[in-house]
Amino acid sequence: MDEKIKNVIERMKADNIKFIRLQFVDLHGIPKNVSIPCELENMVDLLNDGILFDGSSIPGFVEIDSSDLVLKPDISTYSALSWRPEESASCRFICDIYTPDGEPFAGDPRGILKKALAKIKKEGYTYNIGPEPEFFIVDTDDEGNPIPHDDAGYFDVEPTDKGTDFRREITTNLQELGFEVEASHHEVGPGQNEIAFKFDDALKTADAVITFKQAIKAIVANMAYFDGFDYKVTFMPKPFFGESGSGMHCHQSLFKDGKNIFYDENAENKLSQEALWFIGGLLKHSAALTAITNPIVNSYKRLVPGYEAPVYISYGIQNRSTLIRVPAARGKATRIEYRSPDPTCNPYLAFTAMLEAGMDGIKNKIDPGESFEINIYELSEEEREEKGIELLPSSLWEAYHTFENSEILKEALGEHIFNAFLDAKYKEWDEYRVQVFNYEHKKYLNL
Ligand code: GLN
Ligand code: MG
Ligand code: MG
Ligand code: MG
Repeated sequence: MDEKIKNVIERMKADNIKFIRLQFVDLHGIPKNVSIPCELENMVDLLNDGILFDGSSIPGFVEIDSSDLVLKPDISTYSALSWRPEESASCRFICDIYTPDGEPFAGDPRGILKKALAKIKKEGYTYNIGPEPEFFIVDTDDEGNPIPHDDAGYFDVEPTDKGTDFRREITTNLQELGFEVEASHHEVGPGQNEIAFKFDDALKTADAVITFKQAIKAIVANMAYFDGFDYKVTFMPKPFFGESGSGMHCHQSLFKDGKNIFYDENAENKLSQEALWFIGGLLKHSAALTAITNPIVNSYKRLVPGYEAPVYISYGIQNRSTLIRVPAARGKATRIEYRSPDPTCNPYLAFTAMLEAGMDGIKNKIDPGESFEINIYELSEEEREEKGIELLPSSLWEAYHTFENSEILKEALGEHIFNAFLDAKYKEWDEYRVQVFNYEHKKYLNL
């Protein structure tokens, strides 16, 4: 028996595992799984060969006439699910997806990221990401509308902050799941929270983002069930008009042969030429990237001035009004913070797209231009124009059209995902644009 499989079976026995979940994500980063009762006799085959499933029922995958796909567990992703019962426990493996003849499936978002990382690995690079996902805990009012769970703000303490016990419960669960939680706090918006975890290579981080969202939702749903309340978690980017939105800033760095190549002791700001080019690539492709990093209609209600969310395509050292900020840390921790992604993005696709955009910057020595240390929200339109600062797309539709023409992103994601994504987003916009909202009644009904 393969050594890795032997070891994981030992761990499963120790954890008293009775159910194995095989998990993956669809085109939109929504987790999907199938649960298999754990019988030791079948386990080795299951872990080696995986199982067949119907790919035609998964958004963005395959047509009904060629629907079989294979789910193959990535043994290194083993995790006992802390929020499930300890007796007859459940574990999960994140899977890779193959066609029945053994080829990696072109529509598998995880497979696309793996391919992009394998390509840069040949040149000695690894790509690290540290995400900062924000989320709201919401209640329901008497009319069934969602309302924030508390009225607290940035860094508040209990009893104003009603998120303390949630964050405590979530943090201990995440630690059991193997997360290195760095810090948690109440965010700016009412009912808004953030739990930051340690950076890792992009594949592990993308897996972690999926687990993180799934775990938080499940844990809070469990707490609500036992308390007899109706609260739940949302990662929706802008749940409430006039309040902060939820982002997922992505801190990122590139290592070559174990060294952070964004750091250069002798350069201005101690920021290497590669770091500047990487920023240049991200800025150049940012409008097209937005379709992937901010993939839903609601994402664009977050990308407005005044809420620490980016609007202007620019970078700054320490400046939170720009799209890219360079945090103060240097040496091994030198990194850039790309601030537009929100937690509804598919992390596999978002990390692939950001990586390819940044690498294009390095390959083609793209100059990021001037860095801005002023509050860009306060500039007038003329001043911004004078400085050549462009805007991020203001709607999914605008992002869609920029994305549609991006050769770099088409190449990065592959035809299958590129086309499936365009198709899905076209439909999403088309569905949205014919809706009539309360706001319109208030504003126009008396006309
Ligand atoms: N909520 C802000 C956003 O939408 C970020 C606030 C912060 O973490 N500084 O990006
Ligand atoms: Mg933060
Ligand atoms: Mg934050
Ligand atoms: Mg941040």
